[in-house]
Amino acid sequence: MNSTRGNTPSDSQRSETRLVTAGRDTGAQKGFVNPPVFRGSTVLYPNAEDLHAHRAEFTYGRHGTPTTRALQGMLMALEGPQCAGVGLTPSGLAAVTTTLLSVLKAGDHLLVCDNVYRPSRNFCGGMLTRYGVETSYFDPMIGAGIETLFRPNTRAVLVEAPGSQSFEMPDIPAISAVAHARGALVIDDNTWATPLYHRSLEQGVDISMQAATKYIGGHSDIMFGTISANAKAWPLISEGIRLLGVCAGPDDVFLALRGMRTLAVRLAQHYRSGLEIARWLAARPEVARVLHPALESDPGHAIWKRDFTGASGLFSIVLKPVPQQAVDALLDTLNLFGMGFSWGGFESLIIPFDCTDYRTATKWAPGGPTLRLHIGLENVDDLKADLDRGFAGLNAAL
Ligand SMILES: *Cc1c(COP(=O)(O)O)cnc(C)c1O
Repeated sequence: MNSTRGNTPSDSQRSETRLVTAGRDTGAQKGFVNPPVFRGSTVLYPNAEDLHAHRAEFTYGRHGTPTTRALQGMLMALEGPQCAGVGLTPSGLAAVTTTLLSVLKAGDHLLVCDNVYRPSRNFCGGMLTRYGVETSYFDPMIGAGIETLFRPNTRAVLVEAPGSQSFEMPDIPAISAVAHARGALVIDDNTWATPLYHRSLEQGVDISMQAATKYIGGHSDIMFGTISANAKAWPLISEGIRLLGVCAGPDDVFLALRGMRTLAVRLAQHYRSGLEIARWLAARPEVARVLHPALESDPGHAIWKRDFTGASGLFSIVLKPVPQQAVDALLDTLNLFGMGFSWGGFESLIIPFDCTDYRTATKWAPGGPTLRLHIGLENVDDLKADLDRGFAGLNAAL
């Protein structure tokens, strides 16, 4: 059989096709469609000469296996030609911390968007402060105005587009243009859109990270992170991963690879159902505002439309002011929507959140209780019926 048939990704293929063709070597896999899960630490060398020269495709489990290589190949095919390398980490947060440790040194200054994932902020305020890196925060809507915040020692800018609770949409190309003129690197947490809907490396980002725990895995059964870097940043990331000893477990690598095969159809459904529910919620009398950049009314809509090709199933709502017990009644009346942290799996979730106590560059004053929803793959009418029930519960508690 032709060993490359069906498994040769190319630049002319669309992303959906690359998700099928990339990361497979059917010849080496003896005809089987999927690569096996390689478990291993030791890799044996055939002779002393090769051992002395470190001459081997694989040298040690921590440095990669055929399974990790397959996943890296898939991610590179999805990120596009700017991607020079992909690092794999044991969690999404580890992707963020490994990236920051790889890029920064004592005496550096880091600019961070005020809407980033809270544990990323905790790392900056905790370990980075201890290691002599100073962090300052900026308004997610600052755009090219970020110029005034740069210092001679500003080494990097960390953004998240959109923020995964409050959904402001930073202007990444504008921020990147300023950062690059100042010799700083741009780091993007691309978990919300994935490279399928936001090719951040093509928009001026140097390092694009994902909590692959979310949509890449897609089934709420792994903790995983990825770091994709361009040619300028990859040497730093690759060195950082090696020095820190970061690697990922073989089963999680395989599940991430398997999750990616269906990423395009899953995300398309999350996008469609999420937007439909967002519009439905915007028309509810109990809802003051829906925070979803794909809605025309959203302040970040123009940027989303310019820079993204789709939206995921995660967004937030601001309720009209009601007592906490009414919000709790809504949460307790829901049946299909689970309550729990994380997102990106096949199931719908709802969780209250509050950004007031940690924002520093901007004031978070939504004017009512805030809830974040993840719209899963259930039938959208069933989800609406569930939310209907939830609002009846809320109203009954008033
Ligand atoms: C979940 C999440 C992370 C952290 O990922 P874990 O796998 O939970 O460590 C980082 N960034 C964003 C935007 C996230 O939503």
